[in-house]
Amino acid sequence: MAKVIYLDNNATTAIAPEVREAMAPFLDAYYGNPSSIHAFGGQVAKHIDRAREQVAALLGAEPSEILFTSCGTESDNTAIRSALACFPDRRHIVTTRVEHPAVLSLCQWLAQPAPGRPHYRVTELPVDAKGMLNVGELEKALDDDTAIVSIMWANNETGVLFPIREIGALCRRRGVLFHTDAVQAVGKVPIDLAKMPVDMLSLSGHKLHAPKGIGALYVRRGTRFSPYLIGGHQENNRRGGTESVPLIVALGKAAELAARHLEEEQTRVRALRDRLEQGILQSAPGAIRNGHPTERLPNTSNVSFEYVEGESILLMLDQHGICASSGSACTSGSLEPSHVLRAMGVPFTAAHGSIRFSLSRYNTREEIDKVLKVLPPIIRRLREISPFGRDKPVAAPRG
Ligand code: PLP
Repeated sequence: MAKVIYLDNNATTAIAPEVREAMAPFLDAYYGNPSSIHAFGGQVAKHIDRAREQVAALLGAEPSEILFTSCGTESDNTAIRSALACFPDRRHIVTTRVEHPAVLSLCQWLAQPAPGRPHYRVTELPVDAKGMLNVGELEKALDDDTAIVSIMWANNETGVLFPIREIGALCRRRGVLFHTDAVQAVGKVPIDLAKMPVDMLSLSGHKLHAPKGIGALYVRRGTRFSPYLIGGHQENNRRGGTESVPLIVALGKAAELAARHLEEEQTRVRALRDRLEQGILQSAPGAIRNGHPTERLPNTSNVSFEYVEGESILLMLDQHGICASSGSACTSGSLEPSHVLRAMGVPFTAAHGSIRFSLSRYNTREEIDKVLKVLPPIIRRLREISPFGRDKPVAAPRG
């Protein structure tokens, strides 16, 4: 396959060569079950311990506070369901309108009345035009019935970083469990859970150069916890299921590399992102940045191109081997603008033409310059043929 310019790292990332190398022996010679009594199986258990230490080190946590899961979605679901199981008398969940479906869809499902299961009240906090949360709104939403607050660390579409320390401190004062979906934040911004008032945190391997199918949940020591997958005694009785040793080892190695490259995310990757964003804003007609200008992940840029359809831009970029993603999702034949941009009040004409560029440590300046050469003519061309182009009269609606 021809080499692509991959700017869709918030969707998934390439497996780091060091990660592939670290996991390979566990796909081959070391295939034993870590719970076996025999030495052949038992010998792999220490590699799980090592991976747990590596993940804990990236987060400033204790190894015993890390539990391996199959993905970010499982981590999010486990955290929320655990809180509901541990506080059965509380029937209120607080989250935000801009969460990933791994949190939002679960909360919306829990809010639907259904026979045979409890029915929860869910508060979805709004965000402002920059995608930022107002902690005052959270304070107003909390009550004695609140079982858990689940608020993401970084938004996957805009990269906006929420004030996690302030949110956690408020939850602690009010005696409410605080879970954060940090799937997009881990490995991109420094995280030190020893100093942060966070009770549970989710992460996902495939967002930090490990393979798909592995995640982790941090559960602060002393936090009440109820397992989601009930089965064997794995993960210290907190998640049943034979451990995927290759994937766990991969996540450990990816965490170690992420810690090593954290500085580079803040400097080189951020500089590339800024070069891309400024170049686009200066040269492409009708370009507007979505999301907070500074409280943002260093790798993410979300830009709207007014009066142009995001999908068309993506298809034309794809012809040049450039991968990005759009803020709209093709749901049952209709192109719905993203729930994140809608919550921010981005006008329909701009939300439809939004593109997310998300970089990684593997991107180069040459790649960014190629995008800056290719993109502006694409936008100009699409605006010319757009029925909603700024300079064209908009046809009267029919019927
Ligand atoms: N949370 C956020 C913020 C995400 O961006 C994603 C994936 O895009 C997830 C959760 C789900 O992670 P996974 O794909 O590992 O289930």
